[in-house]
Amino acid sequence: MRAMALVTPETSEELRLIVDLCNNLGQTIIVQGGLTGAVEGQYPCLNDLVISTEKMNKILSTNTFEKTMVVEAGCTLEQIQQAARDKGLLFALDIGARGSCTIGGNIATNAGGMEVIRYGMMRDQVLGLEAVLADGTLLSSLNRLQKNNAGYDLKHLLIGTEGTIGIVTKAVLKLRPQPSHQQTALLGCETFQQVETILDRAQASLGESLNRFELLSRAYYQGQMSFGDHDQPMAANFNWYVLMEYAGNQPDAMQDWLEDVLSTGMAEDIVVASNQKQERALWSIRDHFEGITSRKLFFNYDISLPITAMEQYLLDLESTIKTRWPDSEFYSFGHMGDGNLHLFIMPGIDDKSLKDVANDMVYRPLGDVGGSVSAEHGIGLEKKSWLGICRNSTEIEVMKRLKGLFDPNHILNPGRIFDIQPE
Ligand SMILES: Cc1cc2nc3c(=O)[nH]c(=O)nc-3n(C[C@H](O)[C@H](O)[C@H](O)COP(=O)(O)OP(=O)(O)OC[C@H]3O[C@@H](n4cnc5c(N)ncnc54)[C@H](O)[C@@H]3O)c2cc1C
Repeated sequence: MRAMALVTPETSEELRLIVDLCNNLGQTIIVQGGLTGAVEGQYPCLNDLVISTEKMNKILSTNTFEKTMVVEAGCTLEQIQQAARDKGLLFALDIGARGSCTIGGNIATNAGGMEVIRYGMMRDQVLGLEAVLADGTLLSSLNRLQKNNAGYDLKHLLIGTEGTIGIVTKAVLKLRPQPSHQQTALLGCETFQQVETILDRAQASLGESLNRFELLSRAYYQGQMSFGDHDQPMAANFNWYVLMEYAGNQPDAMQDWLEDVLSTGMAEDIVVASNQKQERALWSIRDHFEGITSRKLFFNYDISLPITAMEQYLLDLESTIKTRWPDSEFYSFGHMGDGNLHLFIMPGIDDKSLKDVANDMVYRPLGDVGGSVSAEHGIGLEKKSWLGICRNSTEIEVMKRLKGLFDPNHILNPGRIFDIQPE
């Protein structure tokens, strides 16, 4: 990755001066946090200046009664999670890249992860922000209130806009009470209908203590057992597997509910983790897929669609892939409770240019079912040409107008999300 130069400001004022200068000179800027972004938004060109937030990495304050934390943008997610735990509280965002990704990057991409079903996305964890806008304005909007409807809530201009409007420098984060009991279970199902019923009943019975609800397809589970370094907790012949977590204050709530699930035939088989080691082993089947992906060229997708359309979409997609590439492999898994799936497509031919064909197979049908080409990762450079599948032309036009208003010289993360020419 090469660029014109890399600067690492230590304060908001230093960062503001750099942006102000760049704006006056028409110098393009690429913002970098932890470099874990999944859609190439963080990658510069040779003539870009890179601004990294790596030295803006202090936790500034924690208020345990209000349950708020004020942090600098370059703090890693893990640093924030640990600081909250140290105070007996929870910062309720968790993604696999936690050790490297920064909270500024999480805010810019509106990151999701495992516990969105309960706590929402990054947007729901932010009370206030400080940011440097593309024209060098320092916008301080460090609101700490849960309720503040006094005019526009400007933080939403910065959340999920992938660094195209401004650079996040500080954030006021919402913390939560730490649940006292946690339990993980793996459920095997024959039909997708069973999975839908389990989700519906779990939401009704466990309420907000339903912390995670992940779906693994048969191919994914079998692939993990064949190619990954995992113990097999359950037979590998069910069509669907659900990995779910309870986190609440009633020790027996999940166990009681699972007995009901089994006795009423909602699931064919259930394995419950009885200690933390077993919990980690079960989640590892979901998270550590290197055994599958390290063998062959694969294309990776992060999509969302209505849960009611999911089964048919997957069946149709698999059939399209197999017809086109008879030696292909297709794996699906993900945050089903949020309508979010991750897909791996291995065409079985070692040719990266096939990605365009695969994109067409995955993205085009999403338009018909009201899905999205990006559930969590954003658009960046990678998905630009597919934005029109899930946003109408008026939405895209208004996005461009906002960009033009805040960044008339198009210096900040140019070409991310959409292309726009300076006037
Ligand atoms: C193993 C792994 C697991 C992952 N799991 C998930 C997941 O479950 N859910 C999910 O949503 N994502 C996931 N991701 C993707 C990635 O971690 C997130 O997009 C993350 O939020 C990016 O943070 P970052 O600090 O690494 O940002 P970077 O990669 O540095 O940047 C990402 C984008 O944000 C912009 N940006 C960075 N910092 C700022 C700032 N301070 N102000 C304005 N713009 C900024 C960049 O310009 C770029 O456009 C995963 C990635 C990996 C490698």
